[in-house]
Amino acid sequence: MKKITTRALSVLLLALGIIFGMTLFVLRYVDEGRDWALYFAGANSGAGGELRDRNGELLASFDATRSAFSADGETRVACYHITGDYWDRSGTGALSAYWDRMQEYSLLSGTTKKEPRQFTLTVDASLCRTAYFAVGYNRRGAAMLMNYRTGEVLAMVSAPSVDPINGEVPVAESAFINRCLSATFAPGSVFKLVTAAAAIEDVPDLSSRSFLCEGEYTIGSVDIHCTGVHGWQSVEQAMANSCNCAFAQIAVAAGYNSLYRHVKDYGFLDGYELDGIPSVAGSYRTEFAGNPELAWSGIGQSTDLVCPFAMLRYVAAIANDGMLARPRLILTDEPAELTRLVEASTAKKLKEMMSYNVVTHYDPANNFPGISHLCAKTGTAETGDGSSHAWFTGFLDDPSHPYAFVVVIERGGGGLQAAGPVARRILQAAIARDGG
Ligand SMILES: [Zn+2]
Repeated sequence: MKKITTRALSVLLLALGIIFGMTLFVLRYVDEGRDWALYFAGANSGAGGELRDRNGELLASFDATRSAFSADGETRVACYHITGDYWDRSGTGALSAYWDRMQEYSLLSGTTKKEPRQFTLTVDASLCRTAYFAVGYNRRGAAMLMNYRTGEVLAMVSAPSVDPINGEVPVAESAFINRCLSATFAPGSVFKLVTAAAAIEDVPDLSSRSFLCEGEYTIGSVDIHCTGVHGWQSVEQAMANSCNCAFAQIAVAAGYNSLYRHVKDYGFLDGYELDGIPSVAGSYRTEFAGNPELAWSGIGQSTDLVCPFAMLRYVAAIANDGMLARPRLILTDEPAELTRLVEASTAKKLKEMMSYNVVTHYDPANNFPGISHLCAKTGTAETGDGSSHAWFTGFLDDPSHPYAFVVVIERGGGGLQAAGPVARRILQAAIARDGG
């Protein structure tokens, strides 16, 4: 009897072992099956795929024997941070993020469709080439253009870049990083758009207040220097002058809680996904050693760090009456997905201020010819080593050309001088693309 019990137990254990093994196999098959199936076929399953821009221009194509990119070298380099490559070197490109979907790999049959799968992105390769060459061969920087009504990203470039056709050529340092999504920068004065929003909502008498700039402003025992002597200013004038003395006072008037809440609510402290491709979170000080640091943070210096994509989301929402159209990289017929990011009345006020900046201080006839209804803010962010990051961000308040943009030139100098012309060339090309 004892012998039979032992045998039954052994069979039971054996059965459990088999069930466990099968479960493990199925789980691993679901998780890694594609890689197993594709292992012996090399780069892919044997089926072909094509990655195209919104106009049908080929960005990358592959089949059983070939992993190719655009035949045009400028397109390959300009679009590298959009396509990524077949070896996952950038880690954030469409070829990595959408590889499974491009192949339409089937778990049940272990195969893919035999017809080349067309995969179409929202970007316009021609605008990307313009944007990349505007940022420049010898500079480091990022530029993005997005339709703020639909959320479609039309251009996303990062320099230095990579020509993926030749894996043997050494690439520039940090060239694999997409600076639009995967980097953060000191924002400088573009951050005044956030400080102003906090003040608009939480300083009740803001519109009737004036702020004095005598070239420097002492808070605690800390001197805050300005780029000029701006005298008495309204909040609009302080924004257009990008006056540090006024914004130190405005930040303190709004207070830490209001500033922090707006920075957080507007998404500057979170990472996002651009249709499955992740972006990095920015940072903002959570503890202040008093008003001087609060003042510096409201000016965009202190330890503030902002991802260009987060700034683009914010200005795109301001452009669209406070509603953010979820940014998209995959072209689809689905309607825009709208969520409120900024209060409508705050967005309206910020839009007026950004328009006033351009009209009164950015000399649009000379700096932005052919571009109407431009609303923008410059930033010249000190890095601490004597150089500055140049920012220029904003949008066209024009339903015919509903574009929001962000440009950052790393250690590029002044915002209007270094980043402004990049925005100008991208916007001019986008307007021309629409038929003027
Ligand atoms: Zn000033």
